[in-house]
Amino acid sequence: MISKRKARLTVTGVLALALMFMLIPAHPLPEQTVLSYGVANKIIVIDPGHGGLDQGATRGKYIESDIALQISKKLAHNLSQAGAMVIMLRENESDLAGDEFTGTIGEHKREDMKRRVEKANQARADLYISIHTNAVPNTVWSGAQTFYKPNNEASKTVAKAVQEELVKTLGNTKRKAAPGSYFVLNHTKMPAILIETGFISNPREAALLADSSYQSKLAFAIFSGVARAQLTESSNDKQ
Ligand SMILES: [Zn+2]
Repeated sequence: MISKRKARLTVTGVLALALMFMLIPAHPLPEQTVLSYGVANKIIVIDPGHGGLDQGATRGKYIESDIALQISKKLAHNLSQAGAMVIMLRENESDLAGDEFTGTIGEHKREDMKRRVEKANQARADLYISIHTNAVPNTVWSGAQTFYKPNNEASKTVAKAVQEELVKTLGNTKRKAAPGSYFVLNHTKMPAILIETGFISNPREAALLADSSYQSKLAFAIFSGVARAQLTESSNDKQ
C-alpha cells in the first residue's frame, strides 16, 4: 500500500513534469508573435457602437452599447499588446456628442456619428473597426458577421480575414463577410469594417455575448483577422 505522503510526492512529481513540458515551447516562433508584426505601429480606431442616449438594441438585461464596449476593450488590449496604436472612440457609456450638445435626439445622434468619423479621419488611422450586436424581430437568427466599406478592396480583405477567424474560433456561424452601407463605413477615409458580433435577439446568443470568456474569444478572433490581413498587405507592398 502506498502511504499518503508517498502518494502526495508522486502527485507533485507528475505535476512538476507536466509543468516542465508546458514550459517547453512547441515551436520556436509562436503564432502570436508572427501575427503581432502585422499591426505593430498601425493606428487603429475602435468604435464601440452607440453609447450615451443611444443604447442600441436591447433585449431585457442585454444592452448593445454595453456589450459592444466590453468587446471593444478586450480588442483594444489585444491590439495594443501587439504594438498597434489604438484610439478608442469611447471608454465609457457616454457618446461623442457629449452632454453639452443641445438639439433633438436625432441631431444628437448625427453629431455623435460625425465626430466618430472626424476623429478617425483626423488621426489618419490605418483601420477603423466598429463593434455592434445585431437584433431582429425573429429570435432564431444567430451568428457574427463582418461588413466592409462598399467598393473598397482593402476593407474587403480585412473583413474576409476577420470573418474567417470568427467562423473558425466561434464554431457557431457560417456567415460570410459582406459590403455594408453604414454611416461610419461610408464616411471614413481609411479601410473600415463593422462587426455585428451576434444577435442579442437570440436568447442563447445574447447570453454568450454577455459572457466575458466568449467576448475574449470574439476579440481575439477579430484581432487575429486584422493582424493576418495587415500582414498580407505589408507583404504585398514588398513585391
Ligand atoms: Zn448597432
